[in-house]
Amino acid sequence: MQEFNMFINGEAVQSGSTFEVVNPATGKPFAQVQQGNVSHVDQAVAAAKAAFPSWSKVSDDKRASLCHALANSLEDNMPELMELITKETGKPMGGLNGVGSGMEVGGSMGWTRFTADLQLPVDVIQDNEEARIEVHRKPLGVVASITPWNWPLMIAIWHVIPALRSGNTVVMKPSPFTPTATIRFVEFASKILPAGVINLVTGEGEVGEALTSHPDVSKIVFTGSTPTGKRIMQSASASLKRLTLELGGNDAGIVLPDVDVKEVAPKIFGACFHNNGQTCAALKRLYVHESQYDEMCETLAHLANGVVVGDGLEEGTELGPIQNEDQLKIVSEMAESVEREGGRFICGGKRIDRDGFFFEPTVVADLSDGSRLVDEEPFGPILPVIKYSDIDEVVARANQNDRGLGGSVWSSDTEKAARLAQQLECGSAWVNDHGAIQPDAPFGGVKQSGLGVEFGLYGLEEYTSIQTLKIAR
Ligand code: NDP
Repeated sequence: MQEFNMFINGEAVQSGSTFEVVNPATGKPFAQVQQGNVSHVDQAVAAAKAAFPSWSKVSDDKRASLCHALANSLEDNMPELMELITKETGKPMGGLNGVGSGMEVGGSMGWTRFTADLQLPVDVIQDNEEARIEVHRKPLGVVASITPWNWPLMIAIWHVIPALRSGNTVVMKPSPFTPTATIRFVEFASKILPAGVINLVTGEGEVGEALTSHPDVSKIVFTGSTPTGKRIMQSASASLKRLTLELGGNDAGIVLPDVDVKEVAPKIFGACFHNNGQTCAALKRLYVHESQYDEMCETLAHLANGVVVGDGLEEGTELGPIQNEDQLKIVSEMAESVEREGGRFICGGKRIDRDGFFFEPTVVADLSDGSRLVDEEPFGPILPVIKYSDIDEVVARANQNDRGLGGSVWSSDTEKAARLAQQLECGSAWVNDHGAIQPDAPFGGVKQSGLGVEFGLYGLEEYTSIQTLKIAR
């Protein structure tokens, strides 16, 4: 079994005890990872704090070029990272519509390079005979990054690269379900960056809590569930830490009656089912007009029945297993609620009888708002298709949910769709697309989907505080 260390102050660290990481395609462990504790958190934060004064003074050009070196390390090690991601998450190397571990490593490289080239300009507010007023962006100090299991490496990159680029030092805690690719990245980074600039502690339970309540941490960036996000917000309040919280969503997609169902269904299917629906901004509630409802349900079911489900290491696999047994249980419970609440399976509905945590790609008809599968985020390969008759009313129904990450409108009339999309209460609204993100466009949630944004200059600014400098004349 492969063994993985923690990294503190540029050194590999072992704790004397380990925990196992399970491959969800087999249900069997494939790696051993260090069981860190509160003292490792203290050491890592102390190392990051000590490294901050010199790292924050490194020239902008030098920090940009070191970030490019990190991107190169990802590229040089792409096959190994892809294999680790597939083993720890279950996602295929290629995957449905190319959404797999290749995309995760490629995206990590792309985001790193784009962010490396960003600049934080000094804003001059006034420059006259009375005074010159400049607005400067300054790094915050030690940033704690807590990452989930669905896109472990890419989300770590989204957290860490803007933090480093803007002059902060970091302590990372990956999800205990999926730490291995992130650990390898930090191993490469420890050879590129000065000691203490990037640190990583692994472990369960107490490690996250100790990190997010540590008085020397200035900011927490967290991606994961809303309940954990709320707990982290409480921990952060003691020392008024800055926060970016990306807490997932229950994204609605509204299909207007003017679409060609056969044409849009494959794209909608990909938006719902890529990575088995385990993506924060996957489409999770699909509202379809009554005139096209049956056709859409049948077309989506046909696509679901044709998907190749299997071990992500095998060529041609489009969907792998659900990432962990707890999540499989959540999805199974939601499936059990379907018929009780008046829903009907068009396809799927059951765990697949084989090793690992596999579930059939599932399309559900006849449910409405107020049922568990519609109101709660399933985070799995199960999609409720909901019938509507009135367009104004469906927007209100889509907005009824307490989450607000993304939303979409599908139509052949893009102007009309854009007007409706702007009425959706969510941080990202798409027309004829869903979940499409890119490194230069801000991404974040409203309502209980989170606080703040990631990506681009907007995202970079979140790792800084403003200092206003007034020079009287
Ligand atoms: P959690 O949000 O509970 O955990 C995510 C990360 O937070 C893990 O690294 C976890 O580590 C850490 N964590 C948990 N509690 C604390 C704490 N008090 N302080 C600091 N860190 C903490 O996600 P789960 O894995 O339990 O998944 C549950 C649900 O979250 C899913 O069903 C899904 O709905 C949603 N989810 C959303 C994601 C998104 O992209 N927004 C991604 C993954 C899941 P540890 O376990 O060691 O405490």
